[in-house]
This record gives sequence, C-alpha cells and structure tokens, in this order.
Amino acid sequence: MNLAQRVLERAQAQAGQTAALLAELVRIPSPTGGEGEVAACLRRRMEEAGFEEVRCDGLGNVIGRIGRGRRLLAFDGHLDTVGPGNPENWSFDPYGGEIRDGHVCGRGAADQKGGVAAMVAAGRLLRELGFNRDLSVFFVGSVMEEDCDGLCWKYLIEEEGLRPEAVVSTEPTDGGLYRGQRGRMEIEVDFRGVSAHGSAPERGRNAVYAAARACLAIEALNERLRTDAFLGKGSVTVSRFVSDGPSLCAVPDSARLHLDRRLTAGETRESAVAEIEALVAGEDARVRVLDYLESSWTGRRYGMPKYYPTWSWPEDHPAVACGAAVHRELFGTPPRLGRWTFSTNGVTISGLYGIPTIGYGPGAEAMAHAPDEKIPIADLVRAAAFYALYALRF
Ligand SMILES: [Zn+2]
Repeated sequence: MNLAQRVLERAQAQAGQTAALLAELVRIPSPTGGEGEVAACLRRRMEEAGFEEVRCDGLGNVIGRIGRGRRLLAFDGHLDTVGPGNPENWSFDPYGGEIRDGHVCGRGAADQKGGVAAMVAAGRLLRELGFNRDLSVFFVGSVMEEDCDGLCWKYLIEEEGLRPEAVVSTEPTDGGLYRGQRGRMEIEVDFRGVSAHGSAPERGRNAVYAAARACLAIEALNERLRTDAFLGKGSVTVSRFVSDGPSLCAVPDSARLHLDRRLTAGETRESAVAEIEALVAGEDARVRVLDYLESSWTGRRYGMPKYYPTWSWPEDHPAVACGAAVHRELFGTPPRLGRWTFSTNGVTISGLYGIPTIGYGPGAEAMAHAPDEKIPIADLVRAAAFYALYALRF
C-alpha cells in the first residue's frame, strides 16, 4: 500500500470521529465575536488528537501545531458562522448537529466548521504517520471572518509574526482546488447640500439630487468595469441610500451612499476610489473607504480598512501544483481548478501580504449562509486526507 492509499484509508477509518467532532462544533453557536466556547472545544480536541502545541492568540484564534521544522505551512478554517436567518426556512434544528444520511447538518457545517473538523483529523493522521519532516504545520481556527474577512490573519501576521510559506484555506470548494477570488471594498460617498424651506426649493441645494445623479452614473459605471478571464468581472452597486435635512418640509442638506464594490484583476483601492471621485467631480461630495473596528471574544479591539484585495496564483505556482499533484495521488484525477465566488481570509493572507494561498475545502459553496446547511461526511474524509498528504508533499 503506498502512502496516499494509507492516508486515505486512515482518514476513512476516522470518518465517524470527524463527523462527531463537526456535530459537536455545530452545536456550539459561534457568531462573530462570540467564538470563545467553540475555541475552547477546538483546543481540547486538538490536544486529544496529539497536536504538539495548542494555544490561543490575543485575538482568540486557535493555533495548533504539528512538527517543528524550519519551513512553515498553515491551514486556515474560521470558527464563526452567520446566524440561522428565518427559522421557518429550516427543516431541522440549525444547532442540532444531527448526523443523518451520510451528512452532518446545521449552521456552519459547510461554512465552515467542516474544514475545521477535517483539519483536526489531518493533524491526528500526521501524528499517526509519525510526521517528522523539516516543516512546522499550523492548523488555525480563526475568528471574525464573517464580519471582516482576513482581519484574523492580519493579526496572526502582524502581531504574532506567523508568516508561513503558503496557506491552505479550508473554506468549501465543491471538491475543486481554488487559486483565487475577486476582492471587495466598502465605499461611502457623502453629499452636502444647502437646506431651504420646502415651499421654496430654488433657495437651497438638494443633496438627494446630487446623490441620485451619482447613483445613475454608478449604474452605468458597473456596465463598463473590466473583466478577467479567470476572476470574472468587477462590479459596483449602491447598497444603501440615506438622506437627512432639518425636516420633511425642507430641502435635504445631506445624503450618503454606501457602495459594494467587487474587484477583479488589476483593480485596486486607489483605482476604485478614483473612479467614484471622477463621477462626483463637480458635486460637494466626499469619497472614503470605511474602516472596521470591533472587539473579539477575548476583548481585543482590532480593525482594518474595509479593503479586501483581489488575489490569484497561476496554475503552475508550486503551492497550486503541489495541491494538484496531491489530488491526483489521492483520487486518481486532476482537480477542477477554480475560484471562490465569495470572499475568504485569502484577501489579507494573499491579497495584502502576498503569501501563496490555495483552497481545498469540504462541502458546497452554495450551502454557505443558506437554510438546511449540511455537508457530506465523505467530503470531510477527502479533505482530511488532502491536508495530511499536502503537509507530507509540500
Ligand atoms: Zn466562510
């Protein structure tokens, strides 16, 4: 039996244990900023699995290590989940952690506690195989991803000094090997006008009209944004429009637009801001990128600008090629190479800090944030085997 077959067989032998761990994680609600209890559970389970070092950093990320080599490799899976939404859309308890028909069911099963459970299984597997390469493998259960993707890794890189050679994201990839995603940013545009009595609007300057002109220009801008063959088209949409003035019988003297901007290859914070500034030139308007600043479950206040850069790595990059080779070795076929539609922690790891990142995660991307979220146990087995063999081949 070759190494890949042994890895796959051992991952299969632990399938029940991995599914049970995922069910346990699902039963502990973990909204962004409230990951403390699930983090404690993950620490315990990593210790039981034989991880050589398990700790929490100041932001509350759980870091488990296998191996003590000079080269560094990391796997990432976020611990927070979105809420269940309307409970009537669910046919089972979102926090029941039910296991049925070969699936683990509940909020976070696919996005993305399944990846976290598979990381623990991979760590156990590496220990069983007597891992002794010149490589330190970090398995990170990260926090706050749903509110501010990448913030946790800004903390790990800047405050903890963790700078791996490559990172494997365990967000769901529908069985594919992913190598990039569009970036995104949140932009606010403030318009100022001059109020006047509503009975004589000609005496004032209506901020709503200025903002409305900008809205139509932004709609047109969306049509001409560039497209990339791999990442797809950049996009922009007005996501909120608010206005105010002295009364409902007055010309409004302020209006504010909130924009959701998705960035494709070649688009940056500067280019996206400059486009909007050009559209509102001539108006009394101010364009700015919003900031995120919140407290983690440990009480640490931390933030960053809401700019989440685009990233992608070529098919022949060693980190991607290694993933493709591991897939062929384990499953006998080359992987489907793709990209995420949604955003991940890769925006800082790769987009901001340039650390090569790939994605291979159990579950379906379409299950993320959807009712009746569930994940096949077979996916957990494949992911655990992939992570272990990647650490052995990297
Ligand atoms: Zn996610």
